[in-house]
Amino acid sequence: MPIDATQRYDDDNIFAKILRSEIPSTKVYEDDHAYAFEDINPQAEIHTLVIPKGRYVSWDDFSAHASAEEIAGFVRAVGEVARMKGLVEPGYRMMANIGAHGGQEVPHLHVHIFGGQPLGPMIAN
Ligand code: 5GP
Repeated sequence: MPIDATQRYDDDNIFAKILRSEIPSTKVYEDDHAYAFEDINPQAEIHTLVIPKGRYVSWDDFSAHASAEEIAGFVRAVGEVARMKGLVEPGYRMMANIGAHGGQEVPHLHVHIFGGQPLGPMIAN
């Protein structure tokens, strides 16, 4: 079920549990501001998720309320993960779903990084 991007942060969401190591994940990268791990249900050869460590429901919440340091740290982490995965030269796609029309299911901001293959049209017909 898609979430409401304006809802309050839920400390019991699955990515909060991953950040607290209460649920296992396949770690790709971690720094002070971000954590990256493999998607459990990959939609491409490479499908990695990058999440901020702060309590932000969505891109909307993050862009409105995160500090400049958190935003810079998170954006740099997304780029770093793509470089670590060797995706810059072949190219890749990054995506954040927001709220109901975006199809966001987990209420903790996450950026999807897709790559390792041609990714087709931007939006499915
Ligand atoms: P959304 O639709 O919210 O943008 O994407 C949520 C993503 O989280 C989906 O791609 C889904 O496969 C992934 N996901 C959901 N639960 C888990 C989990 O417990 N572990 C991992 N690694 N990924 C998850």
